[in-house]
Amino acid sequence: MAATAREMTSPAAAGWLDPFLETWRPGTGEPHEIREPATGRPLLNLPHATPDDVARAAATAGAAQPAWAEVTYADRAAILRRAAEIYEAHRPEFGTWTQRETGAHRNKVFHEQNFAVAEIHAAATMPYQPYGSLVPTVQRERMSMVRRIPVGVVGAITPWNSPSVLGMRVVAPALALGNAVVLKPDPQTPVSGGAMFEAVFREAGLPDGLLHVVLGGAEVGEAIVTDPNVNVVSFTGSTAAGRRVGELAGRLLKKVSLELGGNNALVVLDDADLDAAASAGAYASFQFQGQVCFATGRHIVHRSIAGDYVDALVERAKRLRLGDPYRADVDLGPIVNEKQLARVDGIVRRSVDGGARLVVGGTHDGLFYRPTVLTDVTRELPAWTDEIFGPVAPVVVFETDEEALALANDTEYGLAGAVYSRSISRGLALAQRIRAGMVHVNDQTVNDEATIPFGGMGSSGNGTRFGGAANWDEFTQWQWVTVRDEPKSFPFPY
Ligand code: NAD
Repeated sequence: MAATAREMTSPAAAGWLDPFLETWRPGTGEPHEIREPATGRPLLNLPHATPDDVARAAATAGAAQPAWAEVTYADRAAILRRAAEIYEAHRPEFGTWTQRETGAHRNKVFHEQNFAVAEIHAAATMPYQPYGSLVPTVQRERMSMVRRIPVGVVGAITPWNSPSVLGMRVVAPALALGNAVVLKPDPQTPVSGGAMFEAVFREAGLPDGLLHVVLGGAEVGEAIVTDPNVNVVSFTGSTAAGRRVGELAGRLLKKVSLELGGNNALVVLDDADLDAAASAGAYASFQFQGQVCFATGRHIVHRSIAGDYVDALVERAKRLRLGDPYRADVDLGPIVNEKQLARVDGIVRRSVDGGARLVVGGTHDGLFYRPTVLTDVTRELPAWTDEIFGPVAPVVVFETDEEALALANDTEYGLAGAVYSRSISRGLALAQRIRAGMVHVNDQTVNDEATIPFGGMGSSGNGTRFGGAANWDEFTQWQWVTVRDEPKSFPFPY
């Protein structure tokens, strides 16, 4: 350990957001304290929202949205571009908040912020894009067109693990396409997942009423899902909570996008560049303590190289330095909280009890869980079946490519997958048969860009996607419009 929790220091997040935070009230309910995972020190005490707060926010959003949809494309895009500039200008401060709230290493925060800005840049181009087309009609005297119109109010519910980008991938395109948003971040990330959004878009000139942040847990989330003024729900989080959200929305016939958990496979074929594969495997399982939806949860390695691969993974695991994520000489920070820690530790314990071999790690100092490598993992053990969401790399061996494919697809999830092979055609042939929304050859599972339709299959979601062209599907709906010069009359009754 580079430092114990008691020795840690974290910089004060003083700056541009402070005046905003002084008066920011994301609810009128009971105050709720959050602590820094890295130090255990109290960080913020903010009131949570009540059901009335949610209803008020959604009603205000619903009332403000139609006028926003009428704002010219150029003016809407200009507000998004300004938001990107403001975000860029205050990146270090937002990064510090993200670190304080989540215990993330600065490299993780750096990448997350790159993605968040890229989401705003991509969204700022959307108002310029064609939003419909003329379609053929059998009635030659009429014009027939189809167009995309805003869905209205988008309810966005996000988790704590990448609060900026997971919020921005909803807020920016939804606003760009003429919607209003009610955003509920996880209670652990009120600033990096909530206040920061309100402050940035307010400064950028977004008209009042269009973006509301309400704070709270599952009850507040459910109030958003069921509110009659919320037209579409965009949920990112665990599969268990996603099922509940899906049930509630389904009963109300409400469109819902569900981006859920993962248990992602990295397949290493016998002809792989072993060093590259092991470095990718270590990064994809251990960075940000493995608390990433598309982290590698299962390493599927050819028997002929499995020993060397495990050695390389273990060597990297031993070299990773745990401690205060603000320090330059630290690679990994804490697990976010006791509950998650107990979950990760429980999966490791039960797997070892069930026959898995603990090669390295498996212990923790407070919330700091040592990077862990497990071998002899069989397919009924929780280290294989469950999303671990911790710095744990279970390794399983295979003999043939078909076997590797069967192992990769042996999961209820289907978010991301990866294959390492020096043969592009062999790697691609395998990767394309992995049942996952995102697959990579000679790269690892933690990959994202604002231009791609991000999302998963199976229990990783309900088939919806974020990003690129998919944002039109998520945040607009079709309308067919016809028009004729001569009013049509009908010979009726016949
Ligand atoms: P979680 O499901 O507990 O919480 C996520 C959000 O949902 C929070 O804001 C929470 O308050 C809210 N919530 C919880 N129960 C709810 C309910 N019944 N109704 C409405 N809202 C509710 O998730 P978590 O454990 O904090 O986050 C980690 C999970 O998120 C992991 O499973 C991870 O894989 C997943 N995740 C998925 C993606 C993706 O894009 N697929 C991205 C990041 C994280």
